[in-house]
Amino acid sequence: MNIEKIILPETERKELFADPLQLPFGKYFTDHWFTMTFKPETGWGEARISPFRSVPFDPAASVFHYGQEVFEGQKAYRTPNGHILLFRPQENARRFRLSLKRMCMAELPEEYFLEGLLELLKIESRWVPTAPGTSLYIRPTAIGTEAALGVKPSAEYLFYIILSPVGPYFSKGYQPISLWVSDTFARAASGGTGEAKTGGNYAGSLLAGKIAKEKGYDQVLWLDARDHHYVEEGGAMNIFFVIDGKLVTPALSGTILHGITRKSILELSSEMGIEAEERRISIDEIIEGTGTGRVSECFCCGTAAVVTPVDRLGYKEADYNLPQANGPWARKFYDTLCGIQTGSSPDSRGWTMRAS
Ligand SMILES: *Cc1c(COP(=O)(O)O)cnc(C)c1O
Repeated sequence: MNIEKIILPETERKELFADPLQLPFGKYFTDHWFTMTFKPETGWGEARISPFRSVPFDPAASVFHYGQEVFEGQKAYRTPNGHILLFRPQENARRFRLSLKRMCMAELPEEYFLEGLLELLKIESRWVPTAPGTSLYIRPTAIGTEAALGVKPSAEYLFYIILSPVGPYFSKGYQPISLWVSDTFARAASGGTGEAKTGGNYAGSLLAGKIAKEKGYDQVLWLDARDHHYVEEGGAMNIFFVIDGKLVTPALSGTILHGITRKSILELSSEMGIEAEERRISIDEIIEGTGTGRVSECFCCGTAAVVTPVDRLGYKEADYNLPQANGPWARKFYDTLCGIQTGSSPDSRGWTMRAS
């Protein structure tokens, strides 16, 4: 792939944020972005790295009306000896392609995704912060750009990657969150788009999230859309429980996003000494189990926060506390994953990729 590079002279580049630990999530962006366009006659082309800027879009562009949009969330980490690591980026490239396919958008070859990202990181390497808990957040995105109001797949697309240096995801650091179990709202329904990382899933989840906050909880625990009875996800993260000493997570049913953190935790579990199970989990089993002690822990996971313990569930106007609010397994998985991601512990599985 030929990438045109329009690079800012050093004197015109932004200053780094003085205290990376104070960086808010996703507010500051680096000097450059990667872009690529899809045209029906020529396919994907015009790969370019150029100064980050606002761009004019036609008000009729299809993304604004029918929501053809997909994205990814990844991080680049600084290792103790100054290298830059990506965590399983091939998985993101693949999921991005599958999300595009589901949203009836032009599929981006995975090698373009990876090459664009690696080239951009070479130019922006100074933006990967070094303080513990900080990283460079990566947001690959694709949108339908054709200006036409007819309901049909866009004929043209823009793919881009933007980078944002971030501090620890939760400003209070690694701390338990509370979840409000919604038995009326649903994030995704069978046959819908729950497996795709697409903005519409998020737009549809915001109202329930707002109600959860008004009720005094941090995020929503999503149940299945049909019976409002089976656990699916926590906020915009996958969810795990420790039940009878076993690690249990909802089986991927078509409505649950295929989290790379989730997959990694499952793959690590046996060597970490806990048996893992993917299956249907009813909310009754969880609520009862918090009382009897069979459910000892609950935690959510995803790229942004890695692992987040859950200390309290609100269900049908009552509160249920997790016996181990800041449980040992959440912490073990958090430490193990962060160790591999930041290069401070060995990566025997070849999960990390050197970006520079
Ligand atoms: C991105 C995302 C996740 C987590 O996926 P990771 O690959 O682990 O970051 C979980 N649920 C939803 C709804 C998501 O969008």
